[in-house]
Amino acid sequence: MPISKRLFASYNLWSLVAPAVGQERWHCQMKRGFIKARQHEPAVKALLAQATPPQRIGLLAQKGVYEFHQHTQLLQLPDGVERVAQLLRLSKSASEVQQRVIQILKNYRNAPVLVGKRIVLLTRGDEGFPRPIPIKRENYRFQLYASMDCIFTETDRTLHILDFKTGKSAFDRRQALVYLLAARYLYPQHQAVASFYNLEQCKQSDLIHLTSSQLDGVETQLALVAQKHQQDLSQYRQNPHEFSQVFPANPGFHCRHCPFHSICEFSAVKQNMH
Ligand code: SF4
Repeated sequence: MPISKRLFASYNLWSLVAPAVGQERWHCQMKRGFIKARQHEPAVKALLAQATPPQRIGLLAQKGVYEFHQHTQLLQLPDGVERVAQLLRLSKSASEVQQRVIQILKNYRNAPVLVGKRIVLLTRGDEGFPRPIPIKRENYRFQLYASMDCIFTETDRTLHILDFKTGKSAFDRRQALVYLLAARYLYPQHQAVASFYNLEQCKQSDLIHLTSSQLDGVETQLALVAQKHQQDLSQYRQNPHEFSQVFPANPGFHCRHCPFHSICEFSAVKQNMH
């Protein structure tokens, strides 16, 4: 496998290269092209800068949990939810976003899953790109990006990586696999497990744990993702007019939820309007 300093992988890239189980019909490679190859074009950049309501809810929910743990007395106060809402400046958000985030904050106050845990890391969610983890093996080399929401230690010193979710989408196990791989490099002296917690449905996933050889398998998979993406990027940069061959469109009903439907010539939304 060729080695390039620019090779990188993350859960986000993996999810753009290959669909989650059960999502195959809706998977569109062209979205990856917009996000990872044409992201600096003004029209694409403007669309990427607009957070969709689900993205805003996810971000505000994470910030809400963060604020509750910065000011733990707010978990006890009768108006704790309203105070966190003020810290989040929730009144500036659309009413759908406000309603759902208030419910999330109430849910969390009623079942604060991190109370009593020894928290190692709890992010606000808007910190930007994490520092890359260099992965160097004989056959491949790439930078791994893994932004984790929260890590705490269990009583037996096992690290527990918890990812907060909102909305109705099923948990994508691959995200946990990437976190566990990152933990192997960041906290090599610890065992680690990962899980998801949906703040809207108050639903906890099973614990996910991998053996060392399973982690090797995840790493190899990510090296392939990094390589595939780099090859596609090189091909597109050499022949920008081949955008739709390098990143094929898969139009359909799902185009309605795609941030690029207004500029995508293959969008099923636009075609239906004509
Ligand atoms: S609008 Fe549809 S075809 Fe175009 S990038 Fe989005 S999902 Fe793909």
